[in-house]
Amino acid sequence: MNDLYSRHRGVLPDWLALYYEDPLEITHGEGRHVWDSSGNRYLDFFGGILTTMTAHALPEVTKAVAEQAGRIIHSSTLYLNRPMVELAERVAQVSGIPDARVFFTTSGTEANDTALLLATTHRSSNTVLAMRNSYHGRSFSAVGVTGNRGWSPTSLSPLQTLYVHGGVRTRGPFAGLSDGEFIAACVADLKDLLGHTRPPAALIAEPIQGVGGFTSPPDGLYAAFREVLQEYGILWIADEVQTGWGRTGDNFWGWQAHGQNGPPDIVTFAKGIGNGMSIGGVVARAEIMNCLDSNSISTFGGTQVTMAAGLANLNYLLEHDLQGNARRVGGLLIERLRAGTAKLPGVREVRGRGLMIGVELVKPGTDEADPQAASAVLEAAREGGLLIGKGGGHNTSALRIAPPLSLTVAEAEEGAAILENALRSVH
Ligand code: PMP
Repeated sequence: MNDLYSRHRGVLPDWLALYYEDPLEITHGEGRHVWDSSGNRYLDFFGGILTTMTAHALPEVTKAVAEQAGRIIHSSTLYLNRPMVELAERVAQVSGIPDARVFFTTSGTEANDTALLLATTHRSSNTVLAMRNSYHGRSFSAVGVTGNRGWSPTSLSPLQTLYVHGGVRTRGPFAGLSDGEFIAACVADLKDLLGHTRPPAALIAEPIQGVGGFTSPPDGLYAAFREVLQEYGILWIADEVQTGWGRTGDNFWGWQAHGQNGPPDIVTFAKGIGNGMSIGGVVARAEIMNCLDSNSISTFGGTQVTMAAGLANLNYLLEHDLQGNARRVGGLLIERLRAGTAKLPGVREVRGRGLMIGVELVKPGTDEADPQAASAVLEAAREGGLLIGKGGGHNTSALRIAPPLSLTVAEAEEGAAILENALRSVH
């Protein structure tokens, strides 16, 4: 056990998840690469969804942070905050929500917590709908809408939650259905739930489940749900913490693949928008956002230095059309991985959109999830100089690929070759 790992074990909670048998200490990064404390260099195919939306150590963001940190960091609210107003204007503009208001938090968890506070207050109901296999964060209320049992440390909850089918297509009672049949079955499931409860406040859903393994519902699933929700006045909260800002290539937001009945009532975001600085937030129509009638402040949500980072990062993303890059390079990468793994019996499917790609592993010749293989591929990819993630239901048998959105074609080719070797070495 390396020294830092044993100190980590001695002082931090046992449930703090770490990758790798010999966990990595990442010491610095540049572009799409990071280095560990032994000086090894890795192509980073996972940090894009965790922290680094555009590129590691992006000079524009570093400069903005340093300049703002050298000027002032004070309470985010109570006093006017120019960077917060400016970023809120940009986010409102790109959100697609009419008459949008933006509230900044420090994490995705807190963003979802706020969205649930808004929805339950607006509708005077603490019943909510959430998706099976979902992940929404680790506060008491976020855990209360997290269907992924591997990430739900308690079943106690301040909310009454009903779980709906639709997040996962490869397993469960609706596996093997066509797109249309799948949507019809999920809508019937939703209607059945609604027939047995008082009207819920909201449905909270990730357009593509992230921690759940980059599962991809058929386009239009949430549009079909929306029709039913609107009959009951139930709000739609889209958790865009992983799918936002162009990552899915075809769309700026994940919900846009399902937006035929208009934008969601509430959108939450976090992770990469600050390129590593802790920004989360909620966007909603003014009528919903303003339903709270007491004063509220956030000491750190929207602090000047994180907002400066977010502004520089979002400007870079838009000016360099990184959504278009995600579509082009992500499209090539998906095709390349499909072709490269077609003959591997342990690979069930390569799925995803843009630079959000999942590779589902099964025990060869069966339909059984293979979490051991997923861990072994992670180790082998690391040996080859590539960092990837994993996810899925209780059995984490999907590999997750989510590089920074500035990934080049050459880097995509290089990463795909390392990953294919890793897969071959395990099967
Ligand atoms: N929602 C989704 C979809 C997420 O993937 C995550 C983080 N994995 C969260 C919410 C929680 O975000 P945070 O870790 O910033 O609290």
